[in-house]
Formats: sequence, C-alpha cells, structure tokens
Amino acid sequence: MADNLFDLSGKVALITGGNGGIGLGIATGLANAGAAVIIAARDAEKNQRAVESLKRIGARAAALAVDVQDEASIKTMVGQAAQTFGSIGILVNNAGISVAKAPEKYSLEEWQRVININLTGVFLCSREVHPHLRAAGGGKIINIGSMTSIFGHPRVASYSSSKGAVVQLSKSLALAWAKDNIQVNAILPGWINTDLTAGIKQLPDYYSSITARIPQNRWGEPGDLAGTAVFLASRASDYVTGIALPVDGGYSCM
Ligand code: NDP
Repeated sequence: MADNLFDLSGKVALITGGNGGIGLGIATGLANAGAAVIIAARDAEKNQRAVESLKRIGARAAALAVDVQDEASIKTMVGQAAQTFGSIGILVNNAGISVAKAPEKYSLEEWQRVININLTGVFLCSREVHPHLRAAGGGKIINIGSMTSIFGHPRVASYSSSKGAVVQLSKSLALAWAKDNIQVNAILPGWINTDLTAGIKQLPDYYSSITARIPQNRWGEPGDLAGTAVFLASRASDYVTGIALPVDGGYSCM
C-alpha cells in the first residue's frame, strides 16, 4: 500500500479553543486524517456540541475544560488530556480573543487579558505538553497567529502585539525543541468567518472593503485551515520548523 505522509492514524491531537470556529475546522481536518482529537475550551455546552459533531464523522473525540489564562487549569487539563487517549502527539494552540478599540482607550486589564490568553496561554500549553511530546519521541505544535502577526491594526494593538509575538515564540520553541524532534510552526489565517469576526458582518461596507482587498475575493471558512493544519501535524512536515504560513487567499501578498 502507498505510504501516506498525511496519515494521522494513531496520533492524538489536543486543540485549545477547539469547540468552534477555526479550532473546530482544524479539529475536523485532523480527525478526517485519522487523529483522535481532544478539544479544550471553557464553554461546556459548546465543547459537547463540538464533540458530537466530531463523533458524527467517525472520530475518536473528547472535550476538556480549560481557561488558558490560568496556569493551574492548563496543568490539570494537559494531565487529563494525556490520560484520555494514552498520549499527546499534536498540540494546536488556537484559543484566542480580541478587544477592539483605540489603543488610548485600553485599560490595563483589557490589554493583559488579550496578552494572557493569546500569548502566555500558548507558552504555558506548549511548556506543559512538551514532556508528553518528548516522551512520544517527538511531535508537532501548531500556533495560530493572524494577519496582524505581519501587519499592524489601529484598533487591535494588544491583539496584534500578541499575534506578532506568537510567531517569535514559535521560532524560539522550534529552536529549543528541535533536539526533541518537535516541530513548532505557526499558521497565519486571513479573514475567516467565525464568531470572532461576526461583528464585522454587521458592518457591510467594512466587510466588503475587506473582501475586495482579498485576491481570492472571498472570506475564508474554518475548513480552509484544515489542509495546512494536517500538513503541519503530519510526517509530511517533518523537516519544516519555525515557519509562519499564511492561509489568507493571498491577502498578505498585497
Ligand atoms: P472563535 O471566537 O470562534 O473561537 C475562539 C475559541 O477560543 C473558542 O473556542 C473559545 O472557546 C476559545 N477561548 C477563548 N478564550 C479562551 C480561554 N480563556 N481559555 C480557553 N479557550 C478560550 O474565534 P476564531 O475561531 O476566529 O479564532 C480562533 C483563533 O484564530 C484565535 O486565536 C484567533 O485569534 C485566530 N484568528 C482568527 C481569525 C479570523 O478571521 N476569524 C483571523 C486570524 C486569526 P470558549 O469561549 O468556550 O472558551
């Protein structure tokens, strides 16, 4: 039988914020490639609905509660994740939020909440999962950046700061853990229709001005991230580490 470099059978993927949007799009892609998936987020009902949708496509799936702002919560969740299907081979750091306002209007709490979830959460989840990947002889970490990893934005200063830093964190972890056969990469999604961007749909002029700026002339859907995630989670990317790969319909070329 042909050797399928993208086959994830026997692998266990842990996806933070996997209960909707891009996280669920990626979880579905990894499950379709054969992985067992564990999603970890705060909203228990949303977690349950996501697990049911993953089971409907025949996946081995489970959900765990976590708040990635809370170190103790992450430690507990990763410990439980390692028990759920017996190992962890893939970590997708996807959980993220944004607070949109002019920088001079940010409170310290708003600034720190975004940095804590989008950046410190990525570090803490990676640190906690690292021994499990090393014990398995290697593994994959995929961090979710953004177009604001590249560009600035006048209304999301904390978000863009966190997403720029996620790329530098990915490179640093890639260097530190290359010796452990762990590849660490970032995906930079373009404009994707999810709850996070739903507010923009209420502003039709702004929404269509963004569409017009996208060379492929459409917003992305969560499923558009699945192929790149499967690549970065699979043996196909075993010699790829420390990169930040846009999945943006060409937005970042312009
Ligand atoms: P959603 O709002 O649909 O998803 C965000 C996810 O993060 C939810 O599953 C949410 O679950 C989880 N989450 C939020 N805060 C926490 C927390 N403290 N602890 C644990 N989980 C948390 O948005 P998207 O799918 O759009 O966003 C997913 C990622 O993609 C984010 O990192 C975002 O920055 C990034 N991104 C999105 C783009 C877009 O256009 N949509 C573009 C570029 C990047 P729960 O509330 O249950 O905890």
